[in-house]
Amino acid sequence: MTNLNTTHDPGLRSWVDSANVAGSDFPIQNLPYGVFAHPSGADHIGVAIGDQILDLTVLEARGTLRPGGERAVFDSGVLNPFLDLGQPVWSDTRRALCDLLAAGNDTLRADAPLMDQGAVQMRLPVRVSEFTDFYASYEHAMNVGRIFRGDKAALVPNWLHMPIAYNGRASTVVVSGTPITRPCGQIRPAPDAPPVFAPSAKLDFEVELGAIVGTGSAMGTRLSTAQAQASIFGFVLLNDWSARDIQLWEYQPLGPFQSKAFGTTISPWIVTAEALEPFRMDPPERRTPLLPYLHEDSPNAYDILIDVWLATQGGAGRVISRTNSRHLYYTAAAQMAHHTACGCAMRSGDLLGSGTISGLTPDSLGCMLELTQDGRAPLAVDGALREFLEDGDTLGFQGRCTGDYTLGFGTCAGQIRPAT
Ligand code: MN
Repeated sequence: MTNLNTTHDPGLRSWVDSANVAGSDFPIQNLPYGVFAHPSGADHIGVAIGDQILDLTVLEARGTLRPGGERAVFDSGVLNPFLDLGQPVWSDTRRALCDLLAAGNDTLRADAPLMDQGAVQMRLPVRVSEFTDFYASYEHAMNVGRIFRGDKAALVPNWLHMPIAYNGRASTVVVSGTPITRPCGQIRPAPDAPPVFAPSAKLDFEVELGAIVGTGSAMGTRLSTAQAQASIFGFVLLNDWSARDIQLWEYQPLGPFQSKAFGTTISPWIVTAEALEPFRMDPPERRTPLLPYLHEDSPNAYDILIDVWLATQGGAGRVISRTNSRHLYYTAAAQMAHHTACGCAMRSGDLLGSGTISGLTPDSLGCMLELTQDGRAPLAVDGALREFLEDGDTLGFQGRCTGDYTLGFGTCAGQIRPAT
């Protein structure tokens, strides 16, 4: 069940004033972890607080914070060594950071290692070990199935029994702000025509939630949904960029390959599972009973509102979709239990994409393929029309949870560069 503690107290305030501004993504109740380029040239680890970053690499070197005891865990420029320490240490560290940043605590005030978020470049927060992309939205699976295979075969028969996924590429996971180059690949110009090798003409995004595995599992070990939930460190926003024309030609019989291997963008701040505790909820009602190993005893879905915005080159852009991760039929815990059901090992820094998050209404769809009905109903943006993404377009997500207080995920965005 949800396990709220004092770090979730809505009345908490910080001596970092910008954290107390209503609507800030990063109030003291959030404290997401990221990695940033320190002016010294090294990559440092920090938590976001208001519009600042508290530098944990410096705090650890000073001895103010020693989550690994004798062993330094914030000095390698990635969060993996900290993730390896496990949930009790993550929780103790959150409490310690919450104390250090709370209004009235003067421990750090004289010489606080704070950096302006706007003054530094963010890096990938973890060394991504593996990337698995799921397909957990019933609405998305139905909509895409209709477009690719027609009404009758829209939902493949296994979908209601297990979380469907493919093993993706960790090597092309990049942090928000990294440009994405339009991919080239095999495309069939018409159903009866031979394939050509050309730049994708149907470049798309997919709005997803990414779960970051904290503690892994040994080969041959099956995790229960409860064990899986406890091993998830936190979540990021994830864009699974997709080339629909390449995908349509290549995806049968083994699933997407080149159509999704050219880039995957994640937001720089990992919002911890513990920070998200107040926003947990039950997933949608089961349409058919699941096998026992996929049963969940706790509400492992999350109520996270996600806006998708699109801007043309130099344009102001607009929000083109507003969806919510609460619509996902399978939770990250169930996905991970399924992932390990065969004995597959998980590692710290593994990234699990939720699958495109499409809501129930036309303004809450999670990709261009659905929003424009495969290009038949273009979107108006900045005075132009878009069937799919054009060179120079910037596509981004913003996620937030709202309850007794608001917390956010920051931005997950990327600009499209021409094919090379
Ligand atoms: Mn996807």
